[in-house]
Amino acid sequence: MGIMKDALLKAGIKGTVTPKAENEREKIHRKKITETIIHQDQRNFCEECKQVHPDVELYYHNNPTTEAEWICVKCADRMKIADNCRQTAQSDTSIKKMFRREHGATRPASEIKVVKTNKPKGDANGNR
Ligand SMILES: [Zn+2]
Repeated sequence: MGIMKDALLKAGIKGTVTPKAENEREKIHRKKITETIIHQDQRNFCEECKQVHPDVELYYHNNPTTEAEWICVKCADRMKIADNCRQTAQSDTSIKKMFRREHGATRPASEIKVVKTNKPKGDANGNR
């Protein structure tokens, strides 16, 4: 390959085209990754413990000890945030119907208006 490239360079044929094309491909690839993260409509990062969990949901709570809204079950239980503050049933755990709160009653998923974006579902679940 190297010999071939050298030969082409020496001949002046497409000497600059090959590295340029490689760069472009790299840029497109990087952009794709970023878009996947931005467009991801499922959240699994707990703003309270700063960790990724499969049971993170959105809570509109009045707990003064935290400003986190996307919270995993463990943190929600620990902070005694009632499940009727929960706004979403979007986590993997909810989807698998395994979502269960230790603190208080678990709100039935049918009661929660699942906030769904109309973005097309592709292979956008990049975190798994
Ligand atoms: Zn947490």
